[in-house]
Amino acid sequence: MCGIIGYVGSRQAKEILIDGLTRLEYRGYDSAGLVTLNDGAVIVKTEGKVDELKKRLENKPVDGKIGIAHTRWATHGEPSERNAHPHSDEKRQIFVVHNGIIENYKHLKDELIKKGHKFASDTDTEVLAHLIEEDYKGNLEQAVASALSLVRGTYGLAVISCLETDKIVVARSGSPLLVGLGNDENIVASDVSAIIRYTKEVVYLEEREIAVVKKDGFHSFSGKSAKDRVALVEWEIEQAEKGGFPHFMLKEIFEQPKVVEDSIRGRLIEEDGLAKLGGLEEVKDRLGKCERLIITACGTAYYAGLVGEYLFEEYGGLPTEVEYASEFRYRKPIIERDKTAFLAISQSGETADTLAAVCEAKRKGALVLGIVNVVGSTIARETDAGVYNHAGPEIGVASTKAFISQLAVLFLFTLMIGRQREMSFVTGRKIAGHIKRLPNQINSILTQDEKIKEIAQKYAKYNDFLYISRKYNFPIALEGALKLKEISYIHAEGYPSGEMKHGPIALIDENFPTIAIIPKDSVYEKTISNLEEIKARKGKIIAVATEGDEEIQNVADDVIYIPETLEMLTPIFSVVPLQLLAYYIAVIRGKDVDKPRNLAKSVTVE
Ligand code: GLU
Repeated sequence: MCGIIGYVGSRQAKEILIDGLTRLEYRGYDSAGLVTLNDGAVIVKTEGKVDELKKRLENKPVDGKIGIAHTRWATHGEPSERNAHPHSDEKRQIFVVHNGIIENYKHLKDELIKKGHKFASDTDTEVLAHLIEEDYKGNLEQAVASALSLVRGTYGLAVISCLETDKIVVARSGSPLLVGLGNDENIVASDVSAIIRYTKEVVYLEEREIAVVKKDGFHSFSGKSAKDRVALVEWEIEQAEKGGFPHFMLKEIFEQPKVVEDSIRGRLIEEDGLAKLGGLEEVKDRLGKCERLIITACGTAYYAGLVGEYLFEEYGGLPTEVEYASEFRYRKPIIERDKTAFLAISQSGETADTLAAVCEAKRKGALVLGIVNVVGSTIARETDAGVYNHAGPEIGVASTKAFISQLAVLFLFTLMIGRQREMSFVTGRKIAGHIKRLPNQINSILTQDEKIKEIAQKYAKYNDFLYISRKYNFPIALEGALKLKEISYIHAEGYPSGEMKHGPIALIDENFPTIAIIPKDSVYEKTISNLEEIKARKGKIIAVATEGDEEIQNVADDVIYIPETLEMLTPIFSVVPLQLLAYYIAVIRGKDVDKPRNLAKSVTVE
């Protein structure tokens, strides 16, 4: 779930491990630890942040040119020093860091205890160390392989041992792991942001792959040499840093015009009213024959999917439904072979529930597509075809720029399937023209930053918020509420405006403000009536409205304007002020915006 970094080479491992852990911090974690090997092993662990780990390391000689380190997001056993990784066997000869969950750990632990093993933590991970010890017959990778043959669950794994101090054994199943190839050194990590400072040449481990990493080599059990598999990481180190902004989240909000530009670059053919999505070209005909589309995702990506439903049905004539991946995977979905297309949306490409839904849809014969940000991620590899967001690394736990890029890709997708089906050339060209203007227009929303900060000042004291809208912006009401919840821990609910009278209006009084997204669209008048009803009950209203709409000022207490565009494209504008509002309210309330409590960036466990 969280972060792994490992080093083997000719430098002192400690510095690289600590630097790597710092870069992995954005993923959200509750404890950290490392082990290096020299004459013996030095293990340092702590509950809490990497800074605390650094303090503990200050007065300790931590030598060694090989080591592994971890940031943990607890799944089994409370966050504590004793449960922090690395874990080891009782002889302290074999050390393991692990991301994921060993589902059958209880059974394995009981068996190991019967054999006399003594456990020092409550984690599922620790069984791995003991299993490896049990199977060790002079070769670490063999012992890891036989231990893993007994294990059910997910793992990204790095193992070192005092008995063979020249190697890190790595393995993965359902949790990412990669190897950065350097000069006389190699670095293993769960995430490229931990290694891009040292190398851009990366080998992504495949599902169920086990490999041995030494300072001068990488040997996979699969027999595939590293040479044929090296991918070049295009992300720059600055992209993984804050670039002068106080938080990653704010930086990422301000990157959004560029992100949209990157997402549409080379894909929009304005003069023909078309979109060309390279990754989908080879399945285009199959997609054209599909009669139904199922979108699955989790969290923010799910809301992008909801916007997709409105788009695909209105402009593509393609019956579409959107489902939480966690629901889809456990019920009995109806998928008609060759007639149902399936679209998974995931920023990380590692979201456990979405990945499981992808596998299920594949088994049932759907054409499985993906919209994924992280190149080479598991979902990207498991799908039949897909589109990358090109949003760059998203570090803030609360998704902003990845969401915007998902919307941009969905607009292109709509254009592609729409033109393949019933959309006219004229409509296609009109939409393409408007898509092209989006980056500049988003920029103009960002110039209202100060004003949104003032509105945040005014409302930060409230403990409940309602977000409402209709049609294309109803999913944005949900997303706006989620942003506020995630980073400020304020209670917020998103509703379709038309549902007000069916319950939520009972909540409204002078202490329960409403955020209304009300662009000048086909349902404007309807939403105005809802706002009148709120105002009549003394509810305060912040409106996100279209530039030039003065009427809205009669009913709203505060108004944030977004530029005029086609109704179908308005979500990509209306979400921006809501991100900023959530951000400033959280900052005013003194919250840790980039690392909100209890949350992790990529949710690689169910
Ligand atoms: N399941 C393991 C634990 O709770 C690993 C969690 C993680 O991925 O950080 O220790």
